[in-house]
Amino acid sequence: MKDRSPLRRAAAGPAKTSALESATLHSAITPAGTPSSEAVRKAGVACVKRLPAYLQMLRVLHGEGQEYVSGTVLATTHNLEPVIVRKDLAVTGIVGTPRRGFRVADLIHAIERFLGWDGQTKAVLLGVGNLGAALLGYRGFENFGLRIAGAFDADPHKVGTWVQGRRVQALSMLVPFARRSSITLGVLTVPAPAAQAAAELLVQAGIHGIWNFTPVKLNLPESVIVQTEDLAQGLAVLSHELRIEHRSGAGKGADQAR
Ligand code: NAD
Repeated sequence: MKDRSPLRRAAAGPAKTSALESATLHSAITPAGTPSSEAVRKAGVACVKRLPAYLQMLRVLHGEGQEYVSGTVLATTHNLEPVIVRKDLAVTGIVGTPRRGFRVADLIHAIERFLGWDGQTKAVLLGVGNLGAALLGYRGFENFGLRIAGAFDADPHKVGTWVQGRRVQALSMLVPFARRSSITLGVLTVPAPAAQAAAELLVQAGIHGIWNFTPVKLNLPESVIVQTEDLAQGLAVLSHELRIEHRSGAGKGADQAR
């Protein structure tokens, strides 16, 4: 999703929250204050993918001292229909104030809580090569509640060295480290031929979520959640759109086609 509209102009727009908006939002949250499983199921992948973009904008608004924002403003800024934004926000359980919209701080908290980014998820990274080192150096993950607590590599020449402020550890240390530190997530940046075995080692270490950057389709127990990232997919969309644009001269952007 590309941020096409000027944030400040959009943020200054009208703040309206309908009665329907408020009613829908109420039903999405359990008495315990957590999103109902029904709400999570209904949210769907597309919604979950949009939430970080709202969050990014909301953090900017919060930093600028803005207290309220309307669903309409969020929709305008993200080139979305207001009804989509309303449905997206409903899953977080947030309740808006009529004519004012949502309290920015509350909305940030609600989205973070829904995504599980309000606490801190500790991760280990396997494979401190080009990509692994770049991910280790990205401080922005902390804004998403992710802290890479340990980095591991199979290369004895790398073990004991410091990369992006973390000491690279031997694979033999992974299981005790992960268990001791209650690690739940593993970032996999090893070469493709090593991916399956490395993923199995992560599972053995008690990790049940794997952020897989390798091109390998991992074969793991069903209880393990694997999210595979492939930059080539985004590049393919961009290349395709560029070709169309070049042919038609229409000037349409890649994100409008999605
Ligand atoms: P690299 O060769 O620079 O680094 C790989 C590292 O993994 C090395 O340090 C190596 O010693 C280590 N390693 C090898 N076997 C291991 C094992 N069993 N356990 C732990 N560490 C091990 O490679 P790279 O360029 O950083 O790429 C890493 C992976 O990321 C590759 O699978 C590559 O295809 C993938 N990749 C994906 C994307 C994407 O879009 N998702 C982009 C770039 C690279």
